[in-house]
Amino acid sequence: MIINVSTLLSEPLGSNRDYHPVGELVSVPDSGFERTVSADLHLIRSPRGVLVSARVDYDVDADCARCARPIALALVVSFDEEYVHVEDPGATARGRSVDADDFLIDEHRHLDLSEAVRQYEASALPLHPLCRPDCRGLCPTCGADLNEAECACRAGRIDERWGALGILAEQLRTTEDRHGSPEA
Ligand SMILES: [Zn+2]
Repeated sequence: MIINVSTLLSEPLGSNRDYHPVGELVSVPDSGFERTVSADLHLIRSPRGVLVSARVDYDVDADCARCARPIALALVVSFDEEYVHVEDPGATARGRSVDADDFLIDEHRHLDLSEAVRQYEASALPLHPLCRPDCRGLCPTCGADLNEAECACRAGRIDERWGALGILAEQLRTTEDRHGSPEA
């Protein structure tokens, strides 16, 4: 997602713009990172370049942490970053150096949000994505998807429980026989 900030750079500090790109490609080819996103962007002319406040929405492919089903995860990636205009003497004046991890405005006065989206995505991803909040996961014994049906080993466990109840019922019956029924 590349934005031409040529006009904004020629305006006074504090000048600003809002952009709402929809269905734009964000791409960092070196990292194999490619997303189609929509965004709310607020750009402000800052002393060193342009301050970007971004809220970026998109879906990523993930696997449910419980049942391993593939899911489309809706992400919101938010960040505030200053993009430094290295060709502006003001950006590097008064001892302010450009760090290796600074985001830069290129020589065409374009800024590219792709790398920032890639970096901030890591903190937006949930540790345990779920296909739905009450996903029942897989049976630890047989691996059956418990969202689909009870698996055979679960059913077996239920039978055992009924078995225990059966024994209890038998004991109660025996006790009753021994004491006989209460007189009417
Ligand atoms: Zn699931």
